[in-house]
Order: sequence, then structure tokens, then C-alpha cells
Amino acid sequence: MSSASYEIYAIKYGERMGSRGGMFVYGDPHDAPVAMDYFVWAIRNSERTIVIDVGYGREEGERRGRTFLRSPDEGLRLVGIEASEVEDVIITHMHYDHAGNLALFPNARFHLQDEEVAYVTGRAMTHKVLRSSYAIDDVVEMVRLTHGERVVFHAGDEEIAPGISVHHIPGHTRGLQSVRVASQRGPVVLASDAAHYYENVEKETPFAVLENMYLMLEGFRKLRKLAPSDAHVVPGHDPAVLERYPAPSAELEGIVARLDLAPQA
Ligand SMILES: [Zn+2]
Repeated sequence: MSSASYEIYAIKYGERMGSRGGMFVYGDPHDAPVAMDYFVWAIRNSERTIVIDVGYGREEGERRGRTFLRSPDEGLRLVGIEASEVEDVIITHMHYDHAGNLALFPNARFHLQDEEVAYVTGRAMTHKVLRSSYAIDDVVEMVRLTHGERVVFHAGDEEIAPGISVHHIPGHTRGLQSVRVASQRGPVVLASDAAHYYENVEKETPFAVLENMYLMLEGFRKLRKLAPSDAHVVPGHDPAVLERYPAPSAELEGIVARLDLAPQA
């Protein structure tokens, strides 16, 4: 067993308002507004720094009606990380809000599941509904990076560094991966979009953007199996994350949360 342990940061870069009816399948019959936050994550110790997802760019986000609060590289700088120096970036899946700023990381290798790359370059993308959350420029860029030997492929569940493992959890997309990180409070599971909201996991209600509902539902259970408790599962888009976890400093309240510290609620 490795004794590696990391600081874990959720960094908000965007937001939008949506509706429950547009987000939850078989959810509350009474429609109501619901906020969505957009994050990138970073994990760090004295040995290494790894960034998880790169967010959308201003143009793509605003085209889709999302608010762009700060470029993800500016967000990372708030916790002392220079995007241009990062050597490893895990891309949980290729959706526009997770893979839209690859060029901000000119020295990084990008870690992806085999199945995600096959999915975004294959027959599934002939379906408008399935391709609508991808930006073609991100997909083309990832193909270029693959040919440039800057993509590291993973198949299923793998440890990629001491105390850091990726876990294939399809359902939202075919090749989505969540990330488990060793921390001072035990392993923390960064679900990314294997669970958009706490509610998805707690009530097993599917999110409305999906590739396979059955696998998404199985994924909620897998997240719980990977974590020592529900308080160790961090959803990918829930504004409650910034309320439950402490900020690293008063100035970063509402922007950055420390996920390696115990949640307060
Ligand atoms: Zn997302």
C-alpha cells in the first residue's frame, strides 16, 4: 500500500441556471429552477500535480448560454498551479465543458479511456443527440494529440500514480471515468459526470443527458462502492460542493473548495 496523500481542489469557472425537468429523469414532477456549477479539479502533493478536466472556453460556453466566470488556467493559478507546467491531465470525458481548453496545457499528457475516444470518433456521433454535448474542435484536437503521442489510454480501472486511480463508469458517455484520490481523510471519489448532483447518487435518479440509463444507474452504485462513505463522493456539477467544503482562504470562498478536508454539512 502506498502512503501517498494529496490535497484536492474543486475550482469553479462557470455556471448556469437550468430546470429540474431538463436535468432529472423520473425526478420531481414539479418543475423548478436548478443551478449548475462548472468545475475543474486539481490534486497535488510534494511529488506531483495532476489536473482533472480543463473546462469550456468563453466562446463555446457563451454560445451554449453558460456564464464564463474565469478561464480555468486563471482558476488554477488561484491555488498556485501554472497550467503550462502541468504534466498530467485526466480528461473524465470529452464533453465540451470538460475538454474545451486543451491548448492551455502545452506540456501535458492527457489521460483518457479507450472507449471515450472510440465513441467520439465513431458511429455514435452520427446521432445528433449523442454528439450535441461534444465540440468538434475538441475531438479533432484530441486526435491530433493522439498522433502527437500526448494521450495516455486507459482501459477500465487503473492506478495512474501512487494513490490516484481512474475508474471507467459509462452511462453519461461511453467512456466516462471517475477519479479516486488518496487524501488525509481517506480516498475521495471525484465522480465528474458519473454523478452531476448529490441527488443523482442518493436517490438513484438519472441525469437527463445519457448514453445508457442502465449503466448510469449501475455507476451510482459503483461510486458508492469506491468510497468509504457518501461523504467521500464528490459530484461533478453540484453548487452544494462549494457550500459543504471549506475554501482554502476567505478570498476564495465560493470559488475553490478543499475536498481533502471533511465536509461541514
Ligand atoms: Zn459536465
